[in-house]
This record gives sequence, structure tokens and C-alpha cells, in this order.
Amino acid sequence: MNEYDSDKMRDVLQASHAMEMTEIAEEADVLLLNTCSIREKAQEKVFSAIGRWRKIKNKRPDVIIGVGGCVASQEGAAIQKRAPYVDIVFGPQTLHRLPELLDQARHSDKRVVDISFPEIEKFDSLPEPRAEGPKAFVSIMEGCSKYCTFCVVPYTRGEEISRPLNDVIKEITSLAEQGVREINLLGQNVNAYRGDMDDREIADFSLLLHYVVAVEGIDRIRFTTSHPAEYTDEIIEAFAEIPELVNHLHLPVQSGSDHILANMKRGYTRSEYLEIMNKMKAVRPGISLSSDFIIGFPGETEQEFEDTMALIEEVGFDFSYSFIYSARPGTPAAELADDVSEEVKKQRLKKLKTRLDEMTMDVSNSMVDTVQTVLVEGVSKKNPLQVTGRTENNRVVNFTGHPRLAGQFVDVKITEALPNSLRGRLVESSIQKIITN
Ligand code: SAH
Repeated sequence: MNEYDSDKMRDVLQASHAMEMTEIAEEADVLLLNTCSIREKAQEKVFSAIGRWRKIKNKRPDVIIGVGGCVASQEGAAIQKRAPYVDIVFGPQTLHRLPELLDQARHSDKRVVDISFPEIEKFDSLPEPRAEGPKAFVSIMEGCSKYCTFCVVPYTRGEEISRPLNDVIKEITSLAEQGVREINLLGQNVNAYRGDMDDREIADFSLLLHYVVAVEGIDRIRFTTSHPAEYTDEIIEAFAEIPELVNHLHLPVQSGSDHILANMKRGYTRSEYLEIMNKMKAVRPGISLSSDFIIGFPGETEQEFEDTMALIEEVGFDFSYSFIYSARPGTPAAELADDVSEEVKKQRLKKLKTRLDEMTMDVSNSMVDTVQTVLVEGVSKKNPLQVTGRTENNRVVNFTGHPRLAGQFVDVKITEALPNSLRGRLVESSIQKIITN
């Protein structure tokens, strides 16, 4: 989501001020930092990053420094109190106002702060999306109204708000016309999608999926992220009916203990989560399933941690993410007593990660000698004779091929599994298809 937002910041400033992107801070007229506050570590990095930019501003006082994203949303003007050389503070829902905020900062000596939540205004004021390669993100909803006790998102991004169905489909159609073949539908909880339709009806997420697949040229659909609490049977049916939906589902469980899930206020039990995963396996044999885990939620006992370890054995996860619980200011869990030491939490995280990594490597190894559909993204960075693409379960595959393959789906036989990627070889039928094309 943050990558998507950063791209949009670039797009609005390109449209309004004809600005070009540079990765070299010393060259920039405007320095923007997009920030994350999901865990404390991400937040700590903010002040060290802008501290480095201060030196640039000392040399060139006309340089404008802006801080956006969820840390900005949470801290507001306090950022400028601590770092007075920051000119603009803007939130995730006001990034479309950057052109005006920039003009204000340039033409007055005042520091500018806008971290409001002007609802759908943001989506309406962003420039037309430009395709960069065969894959694109499309934001369908934003914010979160679940209020899990550990999570800062509802406070920094606001409550759930969905884009109208027509707007989403128009954006996807435009991207498909520019050569996009794979769409990743984005939102904090995509399955909470409730988009207005022309006839005053409301489209839910499963209906949206049916509309997306009807767009000509879209042959692969992913979504990031969904929540187990609203993972309906209609969504599971959509996986049965829509082959373009990838054979991969990332559904964050956080914990395998009912007690911890209740304290997190997740809105589902362990067995309800397992039921969803079993239904997914039934409609999609061989599906790759992944998750997020929080270790060391306040008061987590050894047994409750072991419940999480047992859950991962029961489901059999592919590439997953795990984090040590980080208390976020203003969230209910930050008030809970916690008697588990950092040391114990680290040990638990290590144990979980080791097992998850093994499972990921098992999946990679099981792919060797199979034929996978790969969407080719372009020439490999490491070897100009090779191209690189991704499988349905999101693994990078490198193989010898012509750069002209970029943007096409090809069949690749997997020959080797490495820790972070796969190697493969184009299969004969794919080579024929390309020659006749
Ligand atoms: N909407 C998704 C979560 C997206 S945030 C959901 O509710 O499932 C990405 C991940 O960050 C979460 O799944 C969670 O594992 C982790 N996370 C969120 N808040 C955290 C916190 N306070 N401490 C540690 N990890 C956290």
C-alpha cells in the first residue's frame, strides 16, 4: 500500500508541477518521506532519515522537505516540533493535495500540516494511472473499521471506505489497454469492499472479482490483504468459478490460540480460520496459503505459542510473515500487562520463522520438475540473457529467454529451487507459441 501511495505522490507532482523522480537526494528540489507506523521499528527510522536531509537543506534552503504516511498521520505537527526544518506534514488520505501544500510551503514561511481524512476525495483527484510493465496495483478500498486491539491502522488511515465499482473497473480497463495483464487489488481489508453501483445497489468483493475478470486482457488477479472475519463463502466460490484468480491466498491469522485471538479482537476463532483454509483447499487443490503472525502478544503463554506452531502444521503455509508484537500508542493492547520477556519472544519468533522457512523451501522444492505459468516481467537484472517473471504463488523465476517475452504468459519447467528464486527453462509449446505470434 505504501509503495502504491509513493507512486501516487510522484504522479500528482508530475501532473501539477512537471516534476521528475530522482533517487539522488542531493539533486532533489522536493524531498518526500513516506512513512509506516505499523510497528515501532518503522517509526524510529523516520527521524534518522530526515536528519540526513537536514544537511541538504542547510546547503540549499529552498529545498522543501515533506513527511507523509501513517507516522505523519499519527504525530502531526509534533514532527515539526522535533524537526523544525520539515516544511510539509501530510497523511495517507491527503497525498493528492501535495501540489497545493507544496505551493503553500514555497510561498509562505509557515509550516504546513494536513492530516485530515477527506473520504473519497483522494481517489477522485488522482491522475490517470500509467502502466509500468504487465502488473499493476489498483486500490479498491482504504482504511479499516475492525479495530483489532494491537493495530494502529484505523487511527492513521481512517475507517473503511470503498471506491465506486465503476471507478475501479474504469481504472483497470485503462491499465489493460496499456498492456497490464495482472491486477493486484489493494486495500487494508479488501473483502470489506462495498462499492456503490450505478443502480444504487452495492457490490461486495466477490461481485467485484467477477467484474474485474470480465475486463479484456486481465488474465491474473491477486488481492492484498483480506481478513478472515469477512471471508465469505461467495469469495470461496469465486475461486471455484474464476480461474484467473491466482492459486494463492494470503490470509493473516496472527495467532493459533483462541484466547489470544479474542484478546486481539480478531472476530474469528482458530477453528473458523481452519474451516476457511480447508474450504479453499477443497475448491483449489494445491493452493499456496500464506499468513502473517504476531508473536508475544501481551500475556502470550508457552502453550498459546505452541497452539500457533500446531496451526502452521495443520494448514501447511507457504511464504509467510511473522513479527514480534509492538505496542502502538493509542491502541487498547498497549494498556495490557505483559509478563513475557523480550528474550522469550525472540526465541519464539526464531522457532516459528525457522519452521515457516522450511515449509517455504519444501514448496519450492516440490515445484522442481513441474511446469508453471509465468508472467514475464522483463530482462533479469543479473543476467541480460535471461528474463524474469513470477509464478501464481508469487515466486520469482529466471530463465533464458528473449526480452520480447515481457508482458506475456509462458510455460516454464522449473529446474532448480534456490532460497529466494527458482530457475527454469521455457517449454517447447511456449517457444512455438512465441514464434507463431
Ligand atoms: N489488515 C490485515 C493486516 C495488515 S498489517 C489484517 O488485519 O490481517 C500487516 C501485518 O502487520 C499484520 O497482519 C500483523 O501481523 C502485523 N502487525 C500489525 N500491527 C502490529 C503490531 N502492533 N505489532 C506487530 N505486528 C503488527
